[in-house]
Amino acid sequence: MKKILLLLCVIAGCLQLTFGWGFYGHKQINHHAVFLLPPAMMAFYKPNIDFITEHAVDPDKRRYTVREEGPRHYIDLNRYGAYPFSGLPRNWNDAVEKFGEDSLKAHGIVPWWIHIMLQRLTNAFREKNYPAIVKLSAEIGHYIADAHVPLHAHSNYNGQQTNQHGIHGLWESRIPELLAATDFDYLLGKAEYISNPPTFVWQRVLESAAAADTVLELEKAVSLRFSPDFKYAFEERNGLLVRQYSGAFTIAYNAAMKGMVERRMRQSVFATASLWYTAWINAGQPALEAAGSVRFSEEDIKIFSELDKSWKAGNTADRTCGN
Ligand SMILES: [Zn+2]
Repeated sequence: MKKILLLLCVIAGCLQLTFGWGFYGHKQINHHAVFLLPPAMMAFYKPNIDFITEHAVDPDKRRYTVREEGPRHYIDLNRYGAYPFSGLPRNWNDAVEKFGEDSLKAHGIVPWWIHIMLQRLTNAFREKNYPAIVKLSAEIGHYIADAHVPLHAHSNYNGQQTNQHGIHGLWESRIPELLAATDFDYLLGKAEYISNPPTFVWQRVLESAAAADTVLELEKAVSLRFSPDFKYAFEERNGLLVRQYSGAFTIAYNAAMKGMVERRMRQSVFATASLWYTAWINAGQPALEAAGSVRFSEEDIKIFSELDKSWKAGNTADRTCGN
């Protein structure tokens, strides 16, 4: 009976659609970031670590229902010429004046959006609005982690322009899911105060853009060493039989990148904790109540459950290759 229910996705482009680090990576990043915080913050974040981990993926879930959500996760810097893209003003108002808001949104706005989230988180600390602090902490962790992904800074984000469909999920989901638990090291020291958050965030997306060509070129180079039969393998995921990059290919590609995925993941953890810490410092280091996990209002709980429902409906459509 189960076999009858199995659906076969035979095109690599129909691999489960993921954004950013994939659900596994985003959750890991938020989870590990908590351990970089100073004791005064850790006492509050630790009891809420499950929420901050689980809700690391809310912004991606929202992409199925909120039209404005998509551009907040990336910026196609190659649309603005060559590195370091000096023709693109880093200041939002200057960029709007030069390119117009619609055009900026069409190519992604992640560095500017992180700044808005940082201001919201800082205000939540000032007001000691505990539900908002944990929600915004979970979400800013998502966006800054996305900013560390090279293919989130390039218009060829899924290899669609170079016949490398599926590379997005390979880099950000398949590699961490296969290797992070055993091979990645998250011992990172402590969160640091970021004196100039916009410069810090732009630096991260510029690094991502600079690495995008390497990510694409190495996948091509490693593919030459694998016949399609060895590059892909069928694997069951949540009741579906999907065509997946094989373990051998995934390991070879990761090795060719010389630890880039682990490095960007570690930097994402550090950046997440450092943004939380910076918001708290800028809010005047308020004393945070360490009274167990935060209680959410009925309305918040309803929003979480509706988000989950709409995501499940959208995600099912993706998995069955219905689009
Ligand atoms: Zn995302």
